[in-house]
Amino acid sequence: MKFLMWLVLAVLVVLALRKKSSTISSAQQQAPLDGGSTGSSPNPNPNSANQHAETMVCCEHCQVYVPSSEAVYRQQQVFCSVAHADLH
Ligand SMILES: [Zn+2]
Repeated sequence: MKFLMWLVLAVLVVLALRKKSSTISSAQQQAPLDGGSTGSSPNPNPNSANQHAETMVCCEHCQVYVPSSEAVYRQQQVFCSVAHADLH
């Protein structure tokens, strides 16, 4: 009966390790997906990590710095959002 208890314990440990590694690998798989789809991503954290390597541009309306990939370009001016671009 003691053997059975150790067996259950070992299975639990293996399951816990598998869960850990699967969450890590899934997080790694999600990161490039979020980076590929620029714009409104549901998970902003991996995206913000990528933004550090990106060129930051200044909004003509509110002077807020946004990554160039997310900026709105209109009439050779840069805006943080379509709403601010429409104001000009
Ligand atoms: Zn703005």
